[in-house]
Amino acid sequence: MTKGTVRGINGNLIQTQVKGVVSLNEVAYVKSGSFSLKTEVIRISGDQAEMQVFENTGGVKVGDAVEFSGELLSVELGPGLLGSICDGLQAPLTVIAEDSGFFLPRGIERDSLSRDKKWEVSPNVEIGDVLEGGDTIATVPEGLFNHRIMVPFNLSGKIKSVKPSGTYTIDEVIAELVDDSGTVHPLRLFFKWPVKRPIMIAEERVRPTEPLVTKVRIIDSFLPIARGGTYCIPGPFGAGKTVLQHITSRNADVDIVVIAACGERAGEVVEVLREFPEIIDPKTGKSLMERTVIVCNTSSMPVAAREASVYTGVTIAEYYRQMGLNVLLLADSTSRWAQAMREMSGRLEEIPGEESFPAYLESVIAAFYERAGVIRLKDGRTGSVTIGGTVSPAGGNFEEPVTQATLKVVGAFHGLSRARAEARRYPSIDPLESWSRYPSFIDQDTRDILHQYTIRGNEVLEMMKVVGEEGTTIEDYLYYLKSEFLDAVFFQQNAYDPVDQSVSKERQRHVLQIITAILQGDMDLQEKEEARKVFNRLRQLFLDYNSSEWKSASFKKQEELVKNLLDEIRREG
Ligand code: ADP
Ligand code: MG
Repeated sequence: MTKGTVRGINGNLIQTQVKGVVSLNEVAYVKSGSFSLKTEVIRISGDQAEMQVFENTGGVKVGDAVEFSGELLSVELGPGLLGSICDGLQAPLTVIAEDSGFFLPRGIERDSLSRDKKWEVSPNVEIGDVLEGGDTIATVPEGLFNHRIMVPFNLSGKIKSVKPSGTYTIDEVIAELVDDSGTVHPLRLFFKWPVKRPIMIAEERVRPTEPLVTKVRIIDSFLPIARGGTYCIPGPFGAGKTVLQHITSRNADVDIVVIAACGERAGEVVEVLREFPEIIDPKTGKSLMERTVIVCNTSSMPVAAREASVYTGVTIAEYYRQMGLNVLLLADSTSRWAQAMREMSGRLEEIPGEESFPAYLESVIAAFYERAGVIRLKDGRTGSVTIGGTVSPAGGNFEEPVTQATLKVVGAFHGLSRARAEARRYPSIDPLESWSRYPSFIDQDTRDILHQYTIRGNEVLEMMKVVGEEGTTIEDYLYYLKSEFLDAVFFQQNAYDPVDQSVSKERQRHVLQIITAILQGDMDLQEKEEARKVFNRLRQLFLDYNSSEWKSASFKKQEELVKNLLDEIRREG
């Protein structure tokens, strides 16, 4: 094993003189007194290696010994991931500290996956079978799924031995594989995989075109995301990024949700950890945690650990995609991750790019989102990883490097507006600024109509700020009222109302039919005062329609009520 000696310490960056071979992203341990601190090699030149330390470097001295592990920074992949809550290095988080978030004693490494738990294993290979990386050798029931135990992605060969069905811990060898060179590889229920090496064993990559239903109206109908696609949610502090991601994790039509939480505040992550286990999965009626993995770091943890958490998250997501499942990875907030990169880059004294972010910021962000996608597996099934990342630019200014770099690579942009959040128009996704390149289950004509009314309504509003209501024509004024009506009854959605918080695709389609009929219908309203009254009544009717009171009302019944109201308005007019 390669060894080294600490030569310099600069915050969380340690310089080491190395005797032997090292590679980039290799894990090394600094042996300082009774501690063994985990680090990752991030730069090598000559016999000097620079490493980022995942823990507090207090007490580390020049002259301390360093041991290189020969392994790249990796995660353990196997049964036991679902329902787990870990930090960026996959250490299980079990100790709560009220104020400082979750912490683990320094320098202590724990197994990520339980070594004691027994799993019901059904092997499905025989001696002599020729297998490749990603092929299934056994299945294990895990929560709602049959977890497929796969041949590690970098191995292939012939099965030499296999254990019978039974209960095993993840550490027990259940089969042996001989590769071409005659080397025997013991196969267990889990293996390690480097977090920065994408998992992609596929017959082909499929274009993401199937809408991913989130049950958030403005997203699904107007600014859709696709299974296997990417999207970003930039927004100022307090605009509703985290609430939107939580509601999405609960309602999105996927098998598994992985949350990579790089908290803005320490308390925020504690909230996530406290709230999540209590959330009931609308799909199964059981705890949502059964199909969720949470990777989290607070801003009080060392930057390097924050950087690792997005990679750990996406690697876990890719692992489940390889089983043919649909996975959603939510990263909140990617700005914290970018700041961690900036901090390390500064310590390395690299030539800075815009706003002191490293010059490679764009390529790192692009490479991260590139790990999303739909893949077709050997057996014809498909799996997907969808990535949604929040960005929290200072002051809510989207003209900054992280937002801009992200916008270049994602397929949909859900920009949150401070003005909308302040007006409590939630979700505060700005219907004017935001865009999506993905198809919706709503036809393009209808989407165009929504677009047209949103734009024109806003123009009239801007005009009225100058010339006043009196200065606008009744036609323009009606445009404005209609756009306000569309916003109030369709784009806005109450995340806390038990009915309104999630709206099925069928219901969205149906409501939009009624709404577009109203938008395009000729109402023959001549007086502004009268028009306002009509739209207030319409709005109220729809808001009731969206809320719990209407829960049991059928589509037909609701349609009838709207029709009656419109008839009544016409008769009165
Ligand atoms: P951010 O993550 O952007 O800083 P949060 O998601 O924490 O902001 O939201 C801040 C607050 O705004 C929430 O605590 C909540 O009161 C309110 N809020 C955000 N989104 C919604 C929503 N969809 N419906 C109702 N209230 C919301
Ligand atoms: Mg937040």
